[in-house]
Amino acid sequence: MPVEPMVFPAQSRLLHLVILLTLTFALTVGGILARPIESLSLFWPVNAVLAGVLLRFPRQATLAGFALVWLAMVGADLLCGSAWVPALWFNLCNLGMVVTLWQLLARLPRLHRRMRTPHGVLSMFAASAAGAAVAASMATLMAAPWFDQSLRATWLAWFSEQFSTSVLVLPVLLTAPSAPALLRGGAEAIRLAPLLVLLASLAFAIAFGGPGAIAFPIAALLWCAWTYSPFLVALLTLTAGSTLIVAVAQNLMHFIVPQSEPGVTSLVSARLGIAMLVLGPLVVACVSQANRSLMARLAHQATIDHLTGVLTRSAFTRRANALLDSRQQHAQALPLTLMMLDIDHFKAINDVHGHAIGDQVLRQFAAALQDQLHEGELLARMGGEEFVVVVPGLAPERAKFTAERLRRAVQDLQVMQADQPLQITVSIGVAGCAADTPAPSLDALLALADQALYQAKAHGRNRVEQAEAQRQVI
Ligand code: GH3
Ligand code: MG
Ligand code: MG
Repeated sequence: MPVEPMVFPAQSRLLHLVILLTLTFALTVGGILARPIESLSLFWPVNAVLAGVLLRFPRQATLAGFALVWLAMVGADLLCGSAWVPALWFNLCNLGMVVTLWQLLARLPRLHRRMRTPHGVLSMFAASAAGAAVAASMATLMAAPWFDQSLRATWLAWFSEQFSTSVLVLPVLLTAPSAPALLRGGAEAIRLAPLLVLLASLAFAIAFGGPGAIAFPIAALLWCAWTYSPFLVALLTLTAGSTLIVAVAQNLMHFIVPQSEPGVTSLVSARLGIAMLVLGPLVVACVSQANRSLMARLAHQATIDHLTGVLTRSAFTRRANALLDSRQQHAQALPLTLMMLDIDHFKAINDVHGHAIGDQVLRQFAAALQDQLHEGELLARMGGEEFVVVVPGLAPERAKFTAERLRRAVQDLQVMQADQPLQITVSIGVAGCAADTPAPSLDALLALADQALYQAKAHGRNRVEQAEAQRQVI
């Protein structure tokens, strides 16, 4: 079974077990205390919580682990005054739900298990239905002596409660970010409008009432779903769903079901409806999160060269043009310098030492240049071993000194190959425009710098040459 990074730092297995059993005990006692006398609890979240915790921390999901969890449930039940036989049996029903959820979801690939895909959301939904059906069937088998209602009513009450609670609770645990991811990501910046509309539509649903009212919050939930992270959406569906269930249970919503259908109470119907209702927003949340990640990855790939980490040619073209445009709009235009850099005899490095060392040279070369530049200055890889630098504010008469500094930084670079430093040199062509003169287009500047670079190569490499036009300016 794939084991995921832990929310807690790696600690002893025993400590994890103690935490799990304490959680089981506390949630069971909580569920019992919240239950109206002689009736099922309004919410019995312990099963879904345990399944979620075990799916995130699978090390405890052993036969012994499940047996201890069952004993913790039984212990809590006995402590709260239950008799032995129902305590043993009904908690076996609860364990049946936990084991079914675990069996069905633990074997899914991580992406589905963590509800990052619609497949994952639907699997969580189907597993919740299967787990609830197992628990309800086991409970119904033994229910007659303890519950004063028909077998069908018992089954429906157990099933609807376990199914809706699982669909509301499990997504929170499965989508929760791990502690390191939380620390890395910081708090999610929250746009308040969808949240406020959700709260308003919940209040309106309860005030308006009637069977259709449970669907009122769906528009707001969908808005939340494409705005917030899946984890936040899971918290909101839990809040909205349980608020509606409590409102129906308290008869606040005049949700009337004719008595001719034994077992199909308002609460059973509302629970099933609410479980269906939250499925849509959960799917939308995971699809829009996947979309956002894809867009961010594409934007990064289009902007940053994957090998050297400097700007790509297309990102450079956009930014350099923006620089030239903004320069054009100022009455007193600043000077600007553009340099073309090309590593000398780079092909020979590849041929002699191999492509991997060539890549290493490119990475260190780019890092050495970046070290020499300041904020607002551009460095881009135009392709292969050709780079370009733009320095706004650098006048043509000073450009040669800066270019010389870059050339020396490359010459001093220590790229180690089999404990021997490789000698790297670069040729640089410089072009630019003086203050208060109209700048040539980016293409014209690149062509000028390219000609100067050609001169630098022709005059023996490892040197800086300035474009013809610029020499005249100086
Ligand atoms: P010159 O001094 O005239 O510039 O000679 P050169 O050998 O540097 O120039 P040339 O254009 O002949 O060779 C460039 C080489 O760069 C050829 C190509 O295989 C290599 N190259 C291009 N992209 C990469 C890359 O991403 N990684 C590696 N390792 N090599 C690359
Ligand atoms: Mg080249
Ligand atoms: Mg070259």
